[in-house]
Parts: sequence; C-alpha cells; structure tokens
Amino acid sequence: MSEGRVKGRFAPSPSGRMHLGNAMAALLSWLSAKSRGGEWLLRIEDLDPQRCRREYARLLEDDLHWLGLDWDEGGVDGIGPSGPYCQSERSDIYEAALERLKATGLCYPCTCTRAELRATQAPHASDGTVIYPGTCRPAVMPAPWHEPTRPCAVRLAVDSAGEITFTDRRCGPRRSVLARDCGDIVLRRADGAWAYQLAVVVDDALMGVTEVVRGEDLLDSVARQIYLYRLLGAEPPEWSHFPLLCAPDGRRLSKRDSSEAMDSLRARYTPAQLIGRLARLAGLRPDDEPCSPADLLQLYTEQ
Ligand code: GLU
Repeated sequence: MSEGRVKGRFAPSPSGRMHLGNAMAALLSWLSAKSRGGEWLLRIEDLDPQRCRREYARLLEDDLHWLGLDWDEGGVDGIGPSGPYCQSERSDIYEAALERLKATGLCYPCTCTRAELRATQAPHASDGTVIYPGTCRPAVMPAPWHEPTRPCAVRLAVDSAGEITFTDRRCGPRRSVLARDCGDIVLRRADGAWAYQLAVVVDDALMGVTEVVRGEDLLDSVARQIYLYRLLGAEPPEWSHFPLLCAPDGRRLSKRDSSEAMDSLRARYTPAQLIGRLARLAGLRPDDEPCSPADLLQLYTEQ
C-alpha cells in the first residue's frame, strides 16, 4: 500500500445514463478507498463534446447519491484543491503537460488520418487499433518539436519506454513493450481533442490519486499510463482491474443493455437491493441480501 493517505477515484464519462457496470466500478473503487481509510474522488471525464452531456453528469451524481456512494472531493461543481473536476474545463492543465512532454524531444506532429492507418498493413493492438507504423516519426529521436503549419495530431514516441512491468492488485504481474503492443501514442488529436491517456494521467497525478480501481477493459492502458507518469516525473498509483460484467448471453454489458441502465434499475430495485446484487456479482457475498455500501466494507477483498 502507498504511504500516506489513500485516495481512490471514480472517473465516468457522461455519455449516457450510468449502467450496472459503472455502478460496479463506483462501488468497488469506493470500497477499496474506504476500506483503507481513504478518500474517494469523483472526476467527470467529458473530453468528447460529441458524446458527453452535462445533464448525464448530473444524473450520474444523482445515481451515486441514490446508491449511497458519496464522494469526498470532485463532482460537476466540485470545488477542491485540485479542481476543476470536469475534464472539459482542464484544457490549460493538459496544455502545460503537453509542453513538458514536447520538451523531452519525444513528441512529433502526425498527419496520418484514421482511414490512412486502417488502409496500412500494420499489425493491430489487442483493442483493435492499428499499431502506429511510424509514418510521421522523425528518423532520429529525440528531436526538437517543430510547430506544424496546419493542425496535426501530437504523437509521443514509445521506443525509449523499453519493457514496462507492474503488478495489478487483482490481475497480478504484467509486462508490456509499448513499441510492440501499441506503438506511438496520440496525446492530442488533430481537431484539438485531448487523448484519454494524457488527460487521465495528468488528472490522477495532480489530484493525488493513489489507487485506480476500474474494469479490466482498461488494463491494457496501464503501461502507456506508467510511461506518461515517468516522463512527467510523477508517481504512478496502485492498479486494480476487476472483471467486466456480462449480459446473460455472455456479451460484455454495455450502454445498449437498457434494462441494466440506472433508470430501469431504479424502477425495479431499492438502493439496498441493488447494492446487494452488486455484492453478489462482485463475489463479496453468496446471495443478493439487501445491504448498504458500508455493510460491505468488512467483506471487501480483491482475491
Ligand atoms: N472515463 C473512463 C470510462 O468511463 C474511465 C477511465 C478510468 O477509469 O481510467 O470508461
């Protein structure tokens, strides 16, 4: 466990109503932080203006209150030492981090479009994205940053990362060679949108987050995030990735499963019944007995 005060966080994207999977992420990150005597922070990851809506962020807060999961810091109107807590309001902070990364000589402008990348024969990463073949990368890195004459994406070379190893509290030891597993990382898209990988690391570091508890779909991002922590001179948090919930037919639960969205769940369950169901699904209890989040603190383990 990290020294000093534990701080966990829940970092949802308000691109729709929260569903059972998000509620699980909220509950497990809350339990982990609180069972260690720590604080729990709520950050709104609304980087994508096409998909994210303020009204969804408000509903999300209402759903968390309904579940009995109250945050110590953050939220839509959150005032706190590390605010603002909506990523859409943190552009200046990401800009400053990007300048520091550019100063390492490892960033370069990239003009490749998604369609061009799809058309290449380059191999694909486990999440289906193309492993960047290095088309725009200068022949020798590090290289000084030259401001491009038209809007371009900013990419970060990953060769110098070598092999990255870490131990996830649930998934155990992991290793990754970024050059092989994902290729050079986009930090900012040509349309100016900040990449998730940059924003999440900058925010978790500046907000003093000491543990990240979230679904296994983000396990592959950890190595990229550790590399960014290193380049920014910040201490990475502890990691814990739990298995994703599945629909009855075995598919991963998604926003399309409307019966597992919070509006439908709130119509069918009381908060205690829903927390009880989540506790069984998380393997904390053998049955669905209604309970409160606080009732589960003693039972919370990651094995
Ligand atoms: N915003 C991401 C999501 O809603 C989660 C990011 C994270 O936990 O690192 O899927």
